[in-house]
Amino acid sequence: MPPSYNEGMRRCLLLVLAGALAFAASEPKTQTIEGKLTIHPDAPATLETPEHQVITLDGDTPTRKVLHDERISGMDAQATGHFTAPGKFLVDPQYKRALLVRKDGKLKMVTYWCDVCGIRAYTPGPCVCCQKETDLDLRDPDDIR
Ligand SMILES: [Zn+2]
Repeated sequence: MPPSYNEGMRRCLLLVLAGALAFAASEPKTQTIEGKLTIHPDAPATLETPEHQVITLDGDTPTRKVLHDERISGMDAQATGHFTAPGKFLVDPQYKRALLVRKDGKLKMVTYWCDVCGIRAYTPGPCVCCQKETDLDLRDPDDIR
């Protein structure tokens, strides 16, 4: 076999490999993880899997706000997104309903309700209308349109 043929094959394989790596880096694999959620006041929330792996959660701005709400600390949660590093998980954008908590065996969306105005919010904090602190309101995803 002439040496030039070998060289050509090697380059070809390297190109294929580089292409595969670039694809893997730009298209992270979407995964769903589940475990016990713990909210930390001064640090990102963590999820402990049934295998006792502790995963740090991050997300978009509304997801981060929810992940600082102590009222959901200790609940079983399910997050859809992808790992950005070992033990670090980026939750998909909130509009995708990527973060759910389990209550009475059912997965629920984390929402917030102002009973004065009848306004629902998706981040904790004061009501946009009357500034009253909203109540945590876990809802069936089917109930929210
Ligand atoms: Zn209100």
